[in-house]
Amino acid sequence: MIFLFDIGFLPIRFLDLLDIGIVGYLMFLVYKLLRGSVAFNIFIGVVLLYFIYWLVGISDMNLLHQVLGQFVSVGFIILIIIFQPEIRRFLLLLGDTTIKQRSNFFSKLLHRNEEDEGSNQAQIVAIKTAMVKLAKEKTGALIVITQNPNLGSLVNSGTRMDAILTEPLLLTIFNKETPLHDGAVVIYNHKILSASCVLPVSDNPNLPRRAGLRHRAAVGITENSDVASFVVSEETGKISYAHQGKLIQNISPEELERLLTLHYK
Ligand code: ATP
Ligand code: MG
Repeated sequence: MIFLFDIGFLPIRFLDLLDIGIVGYLMFLVYKLLRGSVAFNIFIGVVLLYFIYWLVGISDMNLLHQVLGQFVSVGFIILIIIFQPEIRRFLLLLGDTTIKQRSNFFSKLLHRNEEDEGSNQAQIVAIKTAMVKLAKEKTGALIVITQNPNLGSLVNSGTRMDAILTEPLLLTIFNKETPLHDGAVVIYNHKILSASCVLPVSDNPNLPRRAGLRHRAAVGITENSDVASFVVSEETGKISYAHQGKLIQNISPEELERLLTLHYK
């Protein structure tokens, strides 16, 4: 065996470093996978429980140690029960030979509410048809699609909805007679998270002169967050798209569908 160096009395082998490296990387992957989801809070809870159990153990608090021990000893089974949807999805996906992208694969794993590709496509079409209809009747609309649940202040600036995404609901929200039509709709995790949201307005001088507040707000939100936004102009009935601080105006319905597919996961 090759010994690299000693820490105190501990000889360190190359394999030990590899071992630590792999465990560290696995923990990082678990963190990345779970970050921002409910599963992450559960995971933190489990780690905390185990930490307390260990602390109580070395402090010789026998009674508490035994009580906690009961939980910890069935911990693995509890984990399987709690993460049952994720594990099930994981195994199902493993058997699926059409896995195209790893990131796609992981995000699918964590979205418990997601049904399948079919419903994904159906919702993209719902957004597209709603926007095309709104454009025809020249009703203004602003839709933000995000993968990031931490847009807290933005979402709270509007009215929280947590509603299943459908075409009639989008049409209803942007109808000028309704209280919710002003501002942006935020779509996250296959749901309408919030409506009537106030977005940061871009002050980019390179935007077209005629771009008003709605278009500037659409661009503004994409300047500092990794989101995409879509606008229907009330004045011209044209559909525009903003991403990474850039505005593309007057896109066709086909282009709209392609861009929605790109951002809607
Ligand atoms: P349009 O082509 O539809 O007229 P525009 O870019 O010219 O759009 P305005 O005419 O200024 O923009 O549109 C005003 C509407 O834009 C408001 O009624 C409101 O619904 C929306 N809006 C304005 N500012 C914001 C903001 N900060 N966040 C979200 N929505 C906004
Ligand atoms: Mg205007």
